[in-house]
Amino acid sequence: MSEIDIPEDHPRYQSLLTRHRIEAGVENGITSKQGLIAEGRGEAFDYLLGEQTIDSAAAAERAAAAALLLANHPVISVNGNVAALVPAEVVALATAVDADIEINLFNRTDERMTAIAEHLRKHGATNVKGLTANARIPGLSHERAKVDADGIGTADVVVVPLEDGDRAEALASMGKTEIVIDLNPLSRSARAAAIPIVDNILRAIPAITDAAREFEGASKDELAAIVNEFDAEDALADAEAAIRSGDRS
Ligand code: ATP
Repeated sequence: MSEIDIPEDHPRYQSLLTRHRIEAGVENGITSKQGLIAEGRGEAFDYLLGEQTIDSAAAAERAAAAALLLANHPVISVNGNVAALVPAEVVALATAVDADIEINLFNRTDERMTAIAEHLRKHGATNVKGLTANARIPGLSHERAKVDADGIGTADVVVVPLEDGDRAEALASMGKTEIVIDLNPLSRSARAAAIPIVDNILRAIPAITDAAREFEGASKDELAAIVNEFDAEDALADAEAAIRSGDRS
């Protein structure tokens, strides 16, 4: 099934599209088989959320846009699932907030790094980081700790979507402001984040980009007020309540 064969008015359009992109990602050597499991887990949470952006996630997306615009050196971390699902959307966000894009893999192989870099370039990325790997995140084993010194190594704000908990916690301990996109409000990644976004990445990345464009011309004080208004614990509690209540309205 190609992407265009899925009718857009199908009630499960987004879910089918997601599955299709992840499957294609595995076939093209971009996504690991583990990525299929991560996708299934995310889909279950999204189903319980009504496959929609809840209000607290929309607020988190606006706070994320403001934090990215305020950052000195923002970086968007990309793994195999992110590259398969939202390559063009990541490039659009990076352009809107002037961020670097860095490939960062749990199961790092040269082949996957190259395939993802190529895939991102095909979608408009001009400068893809992560291949140099000349710095380390302290507290992690060698392969999982690799980052670029002029990328995540020196970033002040990092977007880490669909990240494993260990690495999210290690990055937070380095003092970086973390924006985590994860449909599981109980995951360690979401809990390590300064700004956790409990939303599907397919909706979250474009929403952050839209907010960033809307904030163009806002003062630093106005942006800082948006970031400060956001409360991570409240947002996680709200998402958990929405999932547990099962009210998909
Ligand atoms: P942790 O180590 O953080 O406690 P984990 O071991 O569950 O969590 P993984 O399975 O490695 O983490 O990461 C996948 C995470 O990404 C899951 O929490 C899943 O809900 C989330 N996820 C998967 N697909 C999407 C998606 N399309 N949008 C947002 N989040 C997603």
